[in-house]
Amino acid sequence: MDLMKYITTVPDWPKPGIKFLDITTLMVNGEAYKYATDQIVNFAKEKQIELIVGPEARGFIIGCPVSYSLGVGFAPVRKEGKLPRETIKIHYGLEYGKDVLTIHKDAIKPGQRVLITDDLLATGGTIEATIKLVEKLGGIVAGIAFLIELSYLEGKKKLNGYDVLTLMQYE
Ligand code: 5GP
Repeated sequence: MDLMKYITTVPDWPKPGIKFLDITTLMVNGEAYKYATDQIVNFAKEKQIELIVGPEARGFIIGCPVSYSLGVGFAPVRKEGKLPRETIKIHYGLEYGKDVLTIHKDAIKPGQRVLITDDLLATGGTIEATIKLVEKLGGIVAGIAFLIELSYLEGKKKLNGYDVLTLMQYE
């Protein structure tokens, strides 16, 4: 299935000059959403995944159906102040300290094989931070899956040494 035809390019959103790739037009199509999910489920089976971890909010949209299909858990990564119990946190982004991601301290068992999911790989900053959270808790990042990779931003370079699946590549 050609998944790209379900993605909508929105010019000048959220700011002038930015071309936003909208995945909601894929999600509202049951067949396309299922097809994309199934590709990631197969990848997760190969990697013997025991837990899925995804950053808010679109990492949930990709990771939760995979989690349900495999019968493994899903642990959310969220912006600071959103998770109710003890968390660990990481600062990331261009301006140090501007963006913070957190995860519950007891979300991952040491040695657990984790799949990280998100909708889109751009510069790789979000996923690099998510990897650090998983590894700080002793998880093994056994795979990373995205719907979309913006190849020209070279985010994959930050993910050297990890098994990465991307279903669509934009040059
Ligand atoms: P990165 O940290 O790799 O630079 O940016 C990736 C993050 O920004 C992802 O969590 C993704 O949801 C969001 N993002 C950036 N650009 C886009 C876009 O064009 N479309 C969508 N759907 N998400 C984007």
